[in-house]
Amino acid sequence: MIRGETIENLIEIKGARHAYQTASGPLPVLDGLEVAVPAGTFAAVVGPSGCGKSTLTKLVAGLMKPDEGEVWLHGEPVTGPRKTVGMAFQNPVLLEWRTILENVILPLEIVAPKMSGKDRIARAMELLEMVGLSGFENKRPSELSGGMRQRASLCRSIVHKPEVLILDEPFGALDAFTREDLWQTMRDLRAAEPFTAVLITHDLRESVFLGDQVIVLSGRPARTQYVMDVDLPADRTLDVLFTKQAADMLHILRDQIKIAQGRDVEGQA
Ligand code: ADP
Ligand code: MG
Repeated sequence: MIRGETIENLIEIKGARHAYQTASGPLPVLDGLEVAVPAGTFAAVVGPSGCGKSTLTKLVAGLMKPDEGEVWLHGEPVTGPRKTVGMAFQNPVLLEWRTILENVILPLEIVAPKMSGKDRIARAMELLEMVGLSGFENKRPSELSGGMRQRASLCRSIVHKPEVLILDEPFGALDAFTREDLWQTMRDLRAAEPFTAVLITHDLRESVFLGDQVIVLSGRPARTQYVMDVDLPADRTLDVLFTKQAADMLHILRDQIKIAQGRDVEGQA
């Protein structure tokens, strides 16, 4: 983000409150959620397990409406599911009866029915190349490693150039080295493609590496407890995580997570 410039918030959640109706009564999950994501930026969301992070993504995707509060996309209230949203999850959910290429093309079949087959293939191949999967386009998902499947899933989530990309713990199931590779892939995709993203993660280093801001949610029911602007260069490398600046940010975030978990910052219960 360029300082001093007014940049439109592409995503805005204002004062969202919500309770799920369950067999044992209402379960409050959101209680004062405030999110503002400027166009073209990456918001990382962290918070205790079960606090309401995936619920936040459903609001942004228009898959549910909060009991109270407002959700805005592009200056318009969200009233239903959005075609212009891309999503990727911890489990890549690729279709085994389709090749990797056919999986990546899938969203185009839905949102761009008039696009020619040739153009669809060209677009998918461009992304597969960017994530290092050229040569694997005719494989089936089960023939690829977990990290490669997640790369394919990332391609599928952005193939239709969604205005909003929702990533719900996409790297959570990967080993530490593969995860760091994927962070760099995500950084490169971001430089090449103009999306606005919400990334849910458990990993504070990931939030600092990929985020322009880190939003810390409180324990359930979630409210926006803390927002940190990540003032690191856009073309950051993994080395940035070893700088004092990043270490200081990680300390603050760790303390915020302890508060969110209901522990004091010394770590005592
Ligand atoms: P997180 O992603 O932060 O782990 P979620 O947003 O998935 O949390 O869920 C928040 C809480 O709401 C959890 O306790 C979860 O079990 C519950 N929950 C999620 N979806 C539903 C639903 N459709 N009906 C009832 N309870 C739900
Ligand atoms: Mg979740």
